[in-house]
Amino acid sequence: VAKLRGGIDLGGTKIQTVVIDGRNKVRGEARAPTPTSGGPADVAAAMAEALREAAAQAETESAKLQGVGVGAPGDADPRGVVSGASNLPGWEAGFPLAAHLRKELGPPVKVGGDVQVATEAEFRLGAGKPYRSILGVFWGTGVGGGLVLDGRPWIGRGNAGEIGHMVIERGGERCPCGRRGCMEAYAGRGAMEAKARQEHEQGTKTDLFKIMKERGHDRLKSSVWEHAINDGDKLATHLIDRAVKALGAGIASAVNLLDPEAVIVGGGLGTRFGQPYVERIEERMSKHLFVDDRPPAMHLTALGDLGGAIGAALLVAPAAARRAG
Ligand SMILES: [Zn+2]
Repeated sequence: VAKLRGGIDLGGTKIQTVVIDGRNKVRGEARAPTPTSGGPADVAAAMAEALREAAAQAETESAKLQGVGVGAPGDADPRGVVSGASNLPGWEAGFPLAAHLRKELGPPVKVGGDVQVATEAEFRLGAGKPYRSILGVFWGTGVGGGLVLDGRPWIGRGNAGEIGHMVIERGGERCPCGRRGCMEAYAGRGAMEAKARQEHEQGTKTDLFKIMKERGHDRLKSSVWEHAINDGDKLATHLIDRAVKALGAGIASAVNLLDPEAVIVGGGLGTRFGQPYVERIEERMSKHLFVDDRPPAMHLTALGDLGGAIGAALLVAPAAARRAG
């Protein structure tokens, strides 16, 4: 009998779930939009439902899974209490997510950081496989980072990897975190959308919001940015160029400090824009690298959209590898 494990990636816009087997192959997957109203219990209910769907696809049921892992935003303590997930509805205070999901689903539940588990999935199964030390950079609504150093995940005291809040311009643009000059203030999709809206209201011409409405969205999703850039929209092009420069400066600074063998770029925008943008970021990095004749290898994530959920499932050790007692 295959040892099936469940994984849930809890994002600000969507919940992605997978069921993987003993060889870490995906046997079922499902996704659902993240509830935008209600509270943590409503989000947890949507997570449980999406996992049950993935389990059904893998021809099993959630109660029979060996365990379920969750990659969550915000802070997760060792007992799976999640707090400070500020882009989820009503989720500032601690909510016992692991206990809640265990009650709904049956098997034991482990919770890790969303970006860190996605980085570890790339390290073990994806673009990071050939290396001992990698930096994962997830370019999406925010800009998240994950680290594996000398073969081991590095989370510091629990909050390492916040590459989005590397300061690239003292006194610069206001970041969604409330501080100024962070890389995310220029490169995060949330910050870019706020900037585009402000410019648009002040009379700068752009088709970004028209494209958004035509496509039935209420925010500037990655596909909207891509469309606008392909149409030659000046504001969109300017803001994306600015994001690439910010990423180049921030990632190069992290590389100067840590000297990883490889940088793996993913996230909503990273995945959408793909390899050409990995190369553009690499080019912008080169001018900030202290040892510029030995840059790290640059890769796009290999697991793409499923990386977070697969990484979450990897939080559950496969039964065969478990020690007795
Ligand atoms: Zn910030």
